[in-house]
This record gives sequence, structure tokens and C-alpha cells, in this order.
Amino acid sequence: MEPRTFSLRYRPQNFEELFDQEHVKRTLTNAIQHNRLVHAYLFAGPRGVGKTTTARILAKSLNCVEGPTVHPCDKCSTCLEIKASKSLDVLEIDGASNRGIDQIRELRENVRYRPTSGHYRIYIIDEVHMLTTEAFNALLKTLEEPPSHVIFIFATTEPHKVPATILSRCQRFDFKRIAPDVITKRLEMIIEKEKLDVSEDAVRLIADIADGGLRDAESVLEQITTFKQGRVTAEDVTELLGIVPYERFSHLLKLVGEKDEAGLLAFLEQTFAAGYDVAEFYFGMVGFLRALLFTSLNMRVERSSFPESALEHARKYTPKQLARMLERFLKSEEAFKRSREKVIFIETLALSLLDMGEKQPIPTNSSTVSEPSSRSTKTSTSPQTSRPKAQKSPLQQNHAGVLNTGEGPASIPEEGPSKQAPENDTKKAEGEMREAEESVQSVPITDVWKRFMEEIETEESFVTLALQESGIIEAQDNLLTIGINNNPKLNIGRLKAEQSHLEERLSRLAGQKMRLEFKATKPMKKENWGSKSKPRSAVEDVLDIFKGDIVR
Ligand SMILES: [Zn+2]
Repeated sequence: MEPRTFSLRYRPQNFEELFDQEHVKRTLTNAIQHNRLVHAYLFAGPRGVGKTTTARILAKSLNCVEGPTVHPCDKCSTCLEIKASKSLDVLEIDGASNRGIDQIRELRENVRYRPTSGHYRIYIIDEVHMLTTEAFNALLKTLEEPPSHVIFIFATTEPHKVPATILSRCQRFDFKRIAPDVITKRLEMIIEKEKLDVSEDAVRLIADIADGGLRDAESVLEQITTFKQGRVTAEDVTELLGIVPYERFSHLLKLVGEKDEAGLLAFLEQTFAAGYDVAEFYFGMVGFLRALLFTSLNMRVERSSFPESALEHARKYTPKQLARMLERFLKSEEAFKRSREKVIFIETLALSLLDMGEKQPIPTNSSTVSEPSSRSTKTSTSPQTSRPKAQKSPLQQNHAGVLNTGEGPASIPEEGPSKQAPENDTKKAEGEMREAEESVQSVPITDVWKRFMEEIETEESFVTLALQESGIIEAQDNLLTIGINNNPKLNIGRLKAEQSHLEERLSRLAGQKMRLEFKATKPMKKENWGSKSKPRSAVEDVLDIFKGDIVR
């Protein structure tokens, strides 16, 4: 009879079928081939990554009538018994439910008996870290002088809880999380064999949530295909597992970028009212920020079911900003777990992202950083008139108003990485990360615009005139909105006629595709024009961009 669950039905039966865990495979097959077996193995690693499966394969390899062999026949009675968990020589013990001294004493009695049909008596103790101290002590005595026909295979998700005395007598193998790609392939194989109808997105999402645990992925697939008739979509997976859809995270970041405090709170309230789990949201956000950080460094996101469109957000932030946001979430983790008011906790945390920028100094190429910054008026279209001095913590960082020197948002995976860091070129990307940490690699929009104005000023063209009494009123992605005060009706028309040419120049300066938009504004003070004679401070520009006030 075929096993019902996918994970059992498709359980790998030999080393070739075992996926990932290459180092484990290699070492074990070498040991079998060269007869360098030891009496105790410790398989450590997360759940569902193949520890007990490997233990059974090893057991079969050793006890097969043709064994020890790396190719157990899967036909002899020994192989079949092991496969069906009926072998008298291969004993699987659950450490969690047989953790006491009595069980281990019994085990100690039994190890003396010769194997009935195979070559070895093999004890597979799962979750071995659960054993009591007395049980470990008893086990240790056997490990110190094991009968030659006995082999122990200990499996644990928490190797640090296994006493050092035991560890030192084991050959240890660390099983790693299985790569999402491998899980995806595995699921696709099952889907094909089971003739299931599951969308690609759904498969990727399952592989992602499984977090390296194949068994979990298989059981989710099984659950969802049982629950849903017809085609299974990513939405079905999201719904079944109560996962927070990525759109929620990207919307949250959008509101952060817009500094929309009220919107942010309303959005979070609505999210949790819709039934999403607060902790799911928290950790989902961590995953999302991580994916954005990788994307901003032109690194491939290994563990991600986020569509590329969602990761475009990365282009709005510098790696440093993203790293800081991620850091803020991670640092709050313990406090979050302890908090009894988790919704309020997240609300506060999300609000704190709004001023994330304040800790990062403005890049040194910004000429006017030291100028006392001033208070912006609430309306962005009528820029600042009189601004009180900011004290020690002026708004020192451009939020979304920072450009990546890389490619524009439109070119995320294809062009972006190729110019700066080839995909998978982790070293280079790490270098970039350091670079980004040391000196911000991005050029603030305000600086690009200033340089642009400097160029324009020397030309004395009509563009120069038209752009007098102008300034940035908004910056979003690669779109700069320029306020024109000087006879806007006329000048906006003139500038528009030259738009593509101007955009081209600006793009060259920015190192990415830039778009311009012109809008009429109320009169500006001359120092706010963004002209060479008296450039606005970057802080002022940023304040304009975010309609922000300097609070302290
Ligand atoms: Zn066999």
C-alpha cells in the first residue's frame, strides 16, 4: 500500500535521491565505500531537511544483503523491512517520548544482541537532545565501549543541548536548510506525479514559507491540494496559511516613504482587523526588508517568493536605509515577543521608521550641509519662508529622495545587476554593501539637481531663465517635480518642449533614468531657487520633498 502523505510517498530511498546536503552525502558514501564507519553519528539541523531520511538510507546501505553499499538494492527483505519501518535491526526511537533512564537502560541491554539479519544493529534516536541527564549518562556508557555491531544515529534540531561528552563521541553532520529552488523542483515533481494543478506562484510561495524545510513544504502542498478543488493559486496558499500578502508590506513602505503617519496607522489597523496575525506581519516584514536590501545591492534574493515588481521598492531606498530599517525590526524582536500589546508595538515601530533618516549624515558632496536648516511650511508647493534652526538632529537624510547610482526601477533584474554586480557575485555585492556603509553610494536628488542647475546656469539659455525661481517640490522614484514660479504659464511650456533633452542630461548626471515634471508654484525666495548663487541646503530640499517639519 502506498503511504498516504507526500513526504512518505516520495521519501528518497537512496543517496542519489537525497537532495541538497551534498557534503553529508559525499562524506557518508565515502565512509561506506572505504569502510570507515564510526559507531555514532550526529545529524544536526532544522526540522524536515532529511535527517531521519538520511539515517534510514544509511541503515539500508549498511544492512542491505549487498551491503555495506552506497547503492542498497531496495529489493531484499532487509531493504524492504527498513523501508516499511519493520526491521528488527534498525530501531527508531523518539527521544522526546523515550527520554528517561529506563528506556536507555533497556536500550543498553538490547545492544548486546547480534543483529538478526543485517550486518549491524542500528539505533536511530530522533530528537536526542530531549533525553534526560541520567539517560545521557547511561547512553554515554554504551558509547564509550560500543559493541562492534552497533551503530547509533542521533538526530537533533538542537545540537547545543546535547552534552559535550556525547558530542565528542559522534561524527557530526550539519544538515542545512534546503534551498527554495530545490524545494520548488521537488514540489513540481510531486505535482506532476500526482497530476495536481498548482500555479507556479503558489509553488514558489510554498517553497518560500517552508523556510528550508522540505517536509513542511510537502505537507502544505498536500494540505492545499486536498482543500482546494481545481487550480491552486498563490492566493489560496496565502489564505490557507494566513500569510500576510507582500502587498501589505510594500504598501506599508510606501506610506513610510510618504511620511503618512495617519495613513500608516489606519492601514495597520485595517490589516489586523482583516485578521492577519501580528507576529506573521512582523516577521513577514523582516523577510520583505531583507529581500529589498538584497535587491538594492543587486544581489539575488535566495529565499523569496516576492515578485520582482514588489522589490522595486528597493530602488527608493539606499542599502543603508534598508539595513537600518531591518536592524530596527530585528533589534526589537525580543521586545516584540514579550509585548502584550503587539499591535501597538508594531504601530510604534512602523512610525519610528518615518524618521529613520535622521541618523544618517548627508553625503559630503552636499555642499550646504552645515547650513542651519530651517523649518518648512506644511505646503510643499509654497516652500519655506522662515525656518527656526534645527538643533542637534536635523533631518539629515533624504528618504526616498535618494537615487541609487545603479539602474532605474524599470531595469531591476536584467540590467541592474549586470552593470554593478553580476547576479550571485556575492563578494562584489558584499563589497558594495561595505561601500554603502562607509560612504553613501547614492547621490541625493537634491545634489543631482544642484549640479544640473550649475551646468544650466553657465549656458545662459532660455532654459536658464525658465528655471530661475524654480526648485524641487517633489521627488518620487525617478520623477522630479520642479516648481516654476517665474511666469509658469510661459516657462512651463518652454521647458516642456525641451523636456526630453533636459531629462537626458539629468539622467546622465544621476546615473539613472530620470523624469521631469513642471508645476507652477507660488513665489519662492531667491535662495530657494536651487540656483548656483545661493543653493538651498539639502536639508531644506528634503524637507520639501517630504513636506516635513524639523521637530527638534
Ligand atoms: Zn537490499
